[in-house]
This record gives sequence, C-alpha cells and structure tokens, in this order.
Amino acid sequence: MATYRSWGEMYQDQAYARDWQCPHCGWAWMEDSEYLKYVVGFATELGRPPAFIGASSRVGGVIVECKRCFQKFWCHVIETMVQTMAIDDDRWPKSE
Ligand SMILES: [Zn+2]
Repeated sequence: MATYRSWGEMYQDQAYARDWQCPHCGWAWMEDSEYLKYVVGFATELGRPPAFIGASSRVGGVIVECKRCFQKFWCHVIETMVQTMAIDDDRWPKSE
C-alpha cells in the first residue's frame, strides 16, 4: 500500500461533509464532472472519523473549496479514491 503525503490547504477544523455535499450550501461535489478542480488540499491527519468507514481503508481527507459558496469543507477518502485522484491530478505528491 502506498503512503500519501499532505499537500495544499491545511486541515483547520473545516466543516465535515456528509454524502460528498457541501455542508454550507448542499453543492454535490462528487457529482460535478470537474470535481478534482475543487480539491485544494489533502491531509493525512484529521478529526475523529465517522464510524461508517473502516479504519483500515481510510488514508486521510480531502479539503474542498465549494464551487457555489466558496467555503471549505472536508471529506474522508479511502485508498482507492486517493489513487484515482492522484493519477489524474499532478498536484498530488506521489510516493515511490
Ligand atoms: Zn457550498
């Protein structure tokens, strides 16, 4: 399993997004065809995780800037999601 490093915007108690939607205005981040464009950072250390994601598959959280209201929020991401995002986006530091 690859390890991932934090980059970009740091985690600072941004609101947690449930169901991949902006907690401020309801924008559905993951349904946007350009969802990667709104990722402003990735952090390996985050607040207390919700119970529904198994600890073994979590690798951190992405910090997203909302397309509609410009507030930031974060979502947990699992390994497979990070792999998909990192492949398509050069901003993600790659591990060897
Ligand atoms: Zn919003």
